[in-house]
Amino acid sequence: MKDVAIIGGGPAGLLLSCYCKDHRIRFHTLERGKIGQSWRDMRPGMVLLSPAVPGTDWTSLTLSHPLWSLPGTRRPFPTREDFLCYIDAFVRENGLSVSERTLAVKARVTPGGYVVTTDEGNEIASRFLVIATGASSFPRLPAVPGVDGNPFVIHSTDFVNCMAYDRKRVLVIGGGNSAAEICIELAGTADVTLCTRHPLRYFSESGILEDIRGSSESVLKELIRFRIVALREADPVAEMTGGTVRFQGGAEETFDRIVCATGFHPRWLPVEGGTVETMDGGFPRISAVGESSVPGLYFCGSLAKFHRRCAFIHGFRNYVEKVFWDIADRL
Ligand SMILES: Cc1cc2nc3c(=O)[nH]c(=O)nc-3n(C[C@H](O)[C@H](O)[C@H](O)COP(=O)(O)OP(=O)(O)OC[C@H]3O[C@@H](n4cnc5c(N)ncnc54)[C@H](O)[C@@H]3O)c2cc1C
Repeated sequence: MKDVAIIGGGPAGLLLSCYCKDHRIRFHTLERGKIGQSWRDMRPGMVLLSPAVPGTDWTSLTLSHPLWSLPGTRRPFPTREDFLCYIDAFVRENGLSVSERTLAVKARVTPGGYVVTTDEGNEIASRFLVIATGASSFPRLPAVPGVDGNPFVIHSTDFVNCMAYDRKRVLVIGGGNSAAEICIELAGTADVTLCTRHPLRYFSESGILEDIRGSSESVLKELIRFRIVALREADPVAEMTGGTVRFQGGAEETFDRIVCATGFHPRWLPVEGGTVETMDGGFPRISAVGESSVPGLYFCGSLAKFHRRCAFIHGFRNYVEKVFWDIADRL
């Protein structure tokens, strides 16, 4: 039996694995794809929103092993590729072992701990279980009639680049970073309309982290001002029939493609024998050290909403350490 089973080989699961290794705690980390798979699934060339430079490092997992020390890292904002190289180096240099291509399909509470079942039917027993599967594993589509099974609709996670959209009429739904960045990417190639539920807000005006509109908010503003990107602000989609969309304001338009940059559902694998209580928004209810309503079951990373900044690495990295020390104290 392991001391800790860690599900998820993303930044949080790897950082926790590193603490376990350093303190000789027996752990087993499972990753459904390759390490950092969520980042591998993101758009090639994507620029991070969190800086990584000496003094303002919001991206590295530890400040003793910083991303900006890798030669050639883009500054101040690294690319997705820089980050993936960093993750690889972090795992190699810390000698972490992760069971890659191993999907955890369920966990169950047992006397004295947990058993995790993998997609190949293997079972891993541990005293403690940490779910670090991230808040972006389950794409969310807008809840409007005509979305489900609609061949015109894709989620932003499936958007690669503008090439497939040459001269197409594209509707981008959403008011966040991904929507902003996809509009910028498509501008000039496709005929783009951006549709938001609420008035668009900008970080440069509010200073609020949630109002960041991608890595180039001024570019987006100019694209809208020059009508290169058409804006349907606070006019959400009411329904769709194929590529034809009716907006709440009553207008109807037809598109060749509808890209939903509408975020993700916070979800995780089923846990038999325990009920994980949730908070508003569907995130697990956790204690100040990350333990859920099921004793011995912890959450860490972006799925553990200690506070609103935990969606980002700099928001959650200290909390991973809290989770670690609570478990270590109980072994
Ligand atoms: C488009 C986009 C851009 C972002 N940009 C930034 C940024 O610039 N800066 C920043 O700090 N944050 C950014 N984030 C947030 C980023 O996702 C988090 O900061 C960070 O990746 C969360 O780490 P995590 O380990 O909690 O989750 P993840 O990175 O999602 O890692 C979870 C891992 O668990 C694995 N997994 C899931 N389910 C299972 C299972 N059942 N069995 C086994 N393995 C499983 C996944 O494959 C994944 O590798 C961005 C997110 C998105 C979607």
